[in-house]
Amino acid sequence: MILDKETLRANLDKVIWNIEQARISVSEHHIVKLVTVAKYTDVENIATLYELGQRAFGENQVQQLRERMAQLEDLPLEWHMIGRLQKNKINNLIDLRPSLMQSLDSFELAQEMQKKLKAKEAKMHCLLQINAAKEESKAGVMPEAALETYLQIKAECPNITLKGVMTIGAHTDDTKAIQESFETTHRIYENLEKEGATICSMGMSGDYELAIKCGSNLVRIGSALFRN
Ligand SMILES: *Cc1c(COP(=O)(O)O)cnc(C)c1O
Repeated sequence: MILDKETLRANLDKVIWNIEQARISVSEHHIVKLVTVAKYTDVENIATLYELGQRAFGENQVQQLRERMAQLEDLPLEWHMIGRLQKNKINNLIDLRPSLMQSLDSFELAQEMQKKLKAKEAKMHCLLQINAAKEESKAGVMPEAALETYLQIKAECPNITLKGVMTIGAHTDDTKAIQESFETTHRIYENLEKEGATICSMGMSGDYELAIKCGSNLVRIGSALFRN
């Protein structure tokens, strides 16, 4: 559905206000980046949000990412890959040169990406995805293996530049459990700061304020921005 500019402006203002309130409650120095997740919305709405000042957009499929980058190539947008990456799509993703690949979810995937990046003499900025609540339905490395995996990728995959971690909050109505999944991820992030990690990506439409209070500095928001 194509939304009018005033609707998108109202949604964006509300989200930015909520982010502001949550981040100030942590610290005035705690800066949070907003990445708009466009996967369920029409391309026209992306262009309108750009006019309203939004620059960073995320997609969860390589195919959709490619189509939208092409459709919007005249706009100076920043694109993030946030979904599961199949091995046979790695080369396609490399060719798109996304600004950040947030869903690097195993050492095996990192090795495959390293081979293909090297062959193309390319580099990619990535986040290590953590399966903080240990859910079978979710991708990502287990929290207890995260530190070691991060260091292993850093050591063995020189064409991948790791910038931090990403998680999807626990899939439950139990706020305490969601909070724990964010706290677990943030603890890992803190341990990785000395390794150069600067991004802790957590929080979606239903839980971004909680995520920010747990230390997130990048939120990925879709549905809250595209309500009418
Ligand atoms: C879809 C998606 C989001 C955004 O979800 P909303 O609940 O619509 O805000 C964030 N992160 C990832 C990885 C997603 O797949």
